[in-house]
Amino acid sequence: MKNYDVAVIGAGVVGGMISRALSRYDLKTVLLERRDDVCMGASRANSAIVHAGFDCEPGTMKALLNVRGSEMMEQVAGELGVPYVRNTSIVVGFSDEDRGKLEYLLEKGRKNGVRDLSIITGDRARELEPKLSPNVKWALLAPTGAIVCPYELTIAAVGNAMDNGVELRTGFEVSAIEHKDGGYVVSSGEDSVFAKYVINCAGVYSDKIAAMAGACDFTITPRRGEYMLLDKESGGMVKATIFRTPTAMGKGILVTRTVDGNLLMGPTAVNIEDKEDVSTTEEGLESVRMQADDMVPGIPVRQVITSFCGLRSVGSTHDFIINQKKPGFINCAGIESPGLSSAPAIAEYVVDMLEGSGLALKEKKDYNPTRRPFNWFKNLTPEEKDDVIRKEPAYGRIVCRCESVTEGEIRNALAMNPQPHDVDGVKRRTRAGMGRCQGGFCSPVVIGLLAQQMGIPFEDVTKSGKGSYIMVGRTKGGRKK
Ligand SMILES: Cc1cc2nc3c(=O)[nH]c(=O)nc-3n(C[C@H](O)[C@H](O)[C@H](O)COP(=O)(O)OP(=O)(O)OC[C@H]3O[C@@H](n4cnc5c(N)ncnc54)[C@H](O)[C@@H]3O)c2cc1C
Repeated sequence: MKNYDVAVIGAGVVGGMISRALSRYDLKTVLLERRDDVCMGASRANSAIVHAGFDCEPGTMKALLNVRGSEMMEQVAGELGVPYVRNTSIVVGFSDEDRGKLEYLLEKGRKNGVRDLSIITGDRARELEPKLSPNVKWALLAPTGAIVCPYELTIAAVGNAMDNGVELRTGFEVSAIEHKDGGYVVSSGEDSVFAKYVINCAGVYSDKIAAMAGACDFTITPRRGEYMLLDKESGGMVKATIFRTPTAMGKGILVTRTVDGNLLMGPTAVNIEDKEDVSTTEEGLESVRMQADDMVPGIPVRQVITSFCGLRSVGSTHDFIINQKKPGFINCAGIESPGLSSAPAIAEYVVDMLEGSGLALKEKKDYNPTRRPFNWFKNLTPEEKDDVIRKEPAYGRIVCRCESVTEGEIRNALAMNPQPHDVDGVKRRTRAGMGRCQGGFCSPVVIGLLAQQMGIPFEDVTKSGKGSYIMVGRTKGGRKK
């Protein structure tokens, strides 16, 4: 059994940011993830907004960590080479009653320390966003609202942690935790690690993990959120993120551009019991369409290229649950929205908690907070690209035509920490398959490159982890699964 100072359970954005923050210090840290890749939970399927922080109840952990996280995010994204755009958030109101709700948000935001908030008229809002509905009467403007790519952020945080010495163990589904010898034996079936400190960042399963350690006094309810993503042709409809006024179930439906230039609308908010149900429904998507259309009429739904669903981890306390009920065992549970925005601040907070509990933090001399972005080639000038292609011809071969991703970029991603093992893993790192045709043309080439890199037969490559074979039937002498 291997020994570690810290074991982090769950490689979402929270576990990823905490691992990265710990990688600054001379510690042995392991990140344990049940799936075959990182970022397979809520962190890959959300609105991707770095919330300004006006929506959280003053005095809560959410308020504290959201505002701090939003302040930190630009620098963190810059260090990790992840796209981040401060595009402004606008909450729209359709009546004088809604104006009251906007005033309430403004007041909460100011109490939370959010900068530069103001209420503007519908006409002023339409000057900023000409496609807004003529029925919008008032709007709350939050210039510190931003957008980021959530899966690139998570993958890059884990990759940077690994580059700085953190060990990632995928396929490690924690099934038992035993308090022993001043630390914890964390097991996945027969396989175990020992760590002096354990951080529970298991998303919708964080209640189950806490219960294994005898440190659970909360429950987690999964809350579905369905989305539609439109082609880049529609991405220019709005610059800012447009929200409705929030309800008891959350921030409501929004319309936003993404950092990659698509248009995103959603999410719904429906509590469910199944912690695995990320299916989309006709009713859910129709309600997204109708509510988005109220704010920004005429969104061309024919340009929807995909739909998806994420599960929020709604904690029974309705706040982030970050506590240490057992010595050395820290829960980061109930990290629903604004968890993405807050993740860098949650990491900072947890590192302080660890230090407060006796973990010695000695800075490494060779810690490197930066990492070359996946999309470095895209950002070169044509002359620079020419130069790279001359040295490495794979950068001259386009694999994904919709997103202009080259073989060189895919080979680069296959070699970087954390390495992808399936087609969707390559997609989240390079955008190959993210475009209009959704992988129709590039998937066979990506499968070939994965097979070559992993040294496995073409037909053994999966779409998204165990069992999700793409080649399932016999083709001219191929093997039958
Ligand atoms: C619909 C929706 C919209 C959202 N919009 C926003 C937004 O715009 N802005 C914002 O700030 N926040 C938003 N959020 C919230 C944000 O996405 C989450 O707060 C954040 O992603 C939570 O990260 P996490 O690492 O805690 O959880 P996750 O990303 O779910 O990661 C948990 C990880 O733990 C792993 N795991 C689970 N059980 C085990 C086990 N037994 N052993 C090992 N590993 C395990 C999982 O496989 C997973 O990888 C949204 C969330 C949703 C669902």
